[in-house]
Amino acid sequence: MSGPPVVTVDGPAGSGKSTLGRRLALALGLPLIDTGLFYRGITWAAIRSGLDADHPEAVAELARRTVVEVNTEPADPGWEVRVDGVDPGLLVRDPRHARLLSAISQIPEVRQHLLPLQREPASRGAVAVGRDCGTVVFPEATVKLYLLAEESLRAERRRAQLAGRGARVDRGAARAEIADRDLGDAASMAAAPDAVVIDTGTASIDEMEAIALRRCAAAGLLPHPPRTGESR
Ligand code: C5P
Repeated sequence: MSGPPVVTVDGPAGSGKSTLGRRLALALGLPLIDTGLFYRGITWAAIRSGLDADHPEAVAELARRTVVEVNTEPADPGWEVRVDGVDPGLLVRDPRHARLLSAISQIPEVRQHLLPLQREPASRGAVAVGRDCGTVVFPEATVKLYLLAEESLRAERRRAQLAGRGARVDRGAARAEIADRDLGDAASMAAAPDAVVIDTGTASIDEMEAIALRRCAAAGLLPHPPRTGESR
């Protein structure tokens, strides 16, 4: 293994990558970089400024002057992202903005601007979760995983995930969100040729974690005892 250890977990919306990524980060004692939160933070800033994706230059300019901080501590679920110092809470996950989120994420200048910010927390290693982590953000990653699942399963997971955080989303809205994002994100999503593909429709989260940790161990990346005060 050369360079800091990086594990990438990519896949479409609702494929379970955040859950698996958090588990792996905790098991391996590494920071968790949820790259989608950078796009969500910029999208929230754009909504606040009344901008939409029809003005890509203005959105790119906004992205450059907006400070997006992403929580990379997997054991601290207290906050996810701060935008210019403000925590938008669940608003960054509002499914009604799914189309805008995908459209803003496709602006090349926005992607370019976010790339070094997404890489920065991995100076000593990380688990990175997103769409293009294994192909663009960390092409030299130690272990690359790509999660798949059917659209209906992913929609149900998304609904349950939001319900667990106190947001009410009906089944139809969850399905529409997943379908919109599959379409909107198609251009930036690809499994790296060297990624291990896991079908999350047939594997439980425990099985997925076991498969991933076996791959990590084979690459010399072993579980790490929890740090003091860290819950597993
Ligand atoms: O991972 P999550 O679903 O939270 O990502 C939110 C959105 O951010 C995606 O729908 C996609 O548009 C964008 N994204 C991206 N590249 C990444 C991560 C997320 O384009 N690496």
